Amino acid sequence: MNIILLGPPGAGKGTQAKILEEKHGLKQLSTGDMLRAAIAAGSEVGLKAKAIMDRGDLVSDDVIIGIVSDRMDKPDIKEGVTFDGFPRTPAQAEALDRMLAGRKQKLDAVIEMKVNDEALVERIAGRFTCAKCGQGYHDKFAPTARPGICDACGGTEFTRRPDDNEKTVRDRLQVYNKQTAPLVAYYAGKGNLHVIDGMADIARVTEAIGAVLKKVKG
Ligand code: ADP
Ligand code: ADP
Ligand code: ZN
Repeated sequence: MNIILLGPPGAGKGTQAKILEEKHGLKQLSTGDMLRAAIAAGSEVGLKAKAIMDRGDLVSDDVIIGIVSDRMDKPDIKEGVTFDGFPRTPAQAEALDRMLAGRKQKLDAVIEMKVNDEALVERIAGRFTCAKCGQGYHDKFAPTARPGICDACGGTEFTRRPDDNEKTVRDRLQVYNKQTAPLVAYYAGKGNLHVIDGMADIARVTEAIGAVLKKVKG
């Protein structure tokens, strides 16, 4: 099963994609995480992407489609994928259609997570991640159980993304509304769009996604 979590920065895509990986064995394919790994590794893709990401713009379709296509050829994604942060433009959506068709696979559901802009800014401003295992947290909405210690791995170092500041978030929201929001109509036209309330708490959102998956599995 292959699904897309579609939503603006801070909607909860990464949080839910990680839960889906544990619960349903769907691999999280996060283009943002892949780009940050490329930056950390100092690769050519990373060098090109860094400045673009820091100002909240989109990395070029060619680069993104290339890294996703390579990832889709790895054997560990046989059970299916949760696309998190991809596609973000109509050209990427069309490329994904071709990638899936070429691999005799299909898209089972596109789940749009709706969250209002002020909540997004608050979510992004409080977001932090365990440096060791990548578990995501929020200062107010999803803190660690014990201060300064990762629930998942016991790690004590945490990171905050350079682009998670209020100015860049507002720019990223504009980019989303202009370049990514048209995908809602694209997938509605194909008949596989499911809209859920992303304002609910994390457990409720997980339930709503579970209900969609149950429905499309039939
Ligand atoms: P995205 O991947 O869509 O950018 P994240 O999953 O990283 O979003 O979530 C952004 C921030 O909001 C994180 O700090 C996360 O812990 C928190 N968060 C995620 N889902 C919810 C929710 N339903 N309610 C409140 N906070 C949430
Ligand atoms: P968020 O979780 O806040 O939605 P991501 O981690 O998905 O953010 O993406 C961070 C940045 O990486 C984006 O602002 C953009 O610069 C770049 N990026 C990630 N995915 C894509 C994509 N599919 N197309 C173009 N740029 C992307
Ligand atoms: Zn950890």
